[in-house]
Amino acid sequence: MQIALFTCLADNYAVLLRDEATAVVALVDAPASEPVIAELEKRGWGLDLILITHRHHDHIEGVPALVARYGAKVIAPALAADVLPGADRFVKEGDRLQIGEIAVEVWDTPGHCADHISYHLPAEQVIFVGDTMFTMGCGRIFNLPPEMLYASLQRIGALPEATRIYSGHEYTLSNARFAIATEPDNAAIAARFKTIEAMRASGTPTVPTTVAEERATNVFLRARDVAEFAARREAKNRF
Ligand SMILES: [Zn+2]
Repeated sequence: MQIALFTCLADNYAVLLRDEATAVVALVDAPASEPVIAELEKRGWGLDLILITHRHHDHIEGVPALVARYGAKVIAPALAADVLPGADRFVKEGDRLQIGEIAVEVWDTPGHCADHISYHLPAEQVIFVGDTMFTMGCGRIFNLPPEMLYASLQRIGALPEATRIYSGHEYTLSNARFAIATEPDNAAIAARFKTIEAMRASGTPTVPTTVAEERATNVFLRARDVAEFAARREAKNRF
């Protein structure tokens, strides 16, 4: 599988996946159409599928123009049908789809918003989590109980250590600063902060991350219980 990650809008990421056996290409989230078209043209790829993680406009805005240009089929969360009425398929926990020969499992990962889903590719050891988890961080909670996002993070964090986690935004420098303030004695966090600073200084994306790295340095995943998680999420909102 070929994977191309690129920036859209100010700090969103979109990802293109290409199954080499069948040349089927899928896009995960569509913040805007222009950067996606530019990436496809550069690579000489078509676009067959668009996989949407959740309803927020900075993840779906590019859908109409991409569908018009490429005739791509849209896969959307079942609970986001009201904002994506023209989608070709609505999916939820336990549903399966294929990107060519690559098997994809749909997970319900609510908490950032209620309709949020993630796309897990077990054979590739890759998961696309949208705004559920970020590198060293997690999504904001919009009017939902913190238990939901906490459970979604714990589930992602229980995947095999080598699993690569692709998220929807480059927020890592801010997340790393908050992590140091939250766990000042954590040597893994201190070391990773230096790495992240250098990566960002050279414009290198900090996505994807891995389950192993997040277990060591993500203070939201590392919260001992939902109360500590909720307190940390509140503190980050004001950080
Ligand atoms: Zn969002």
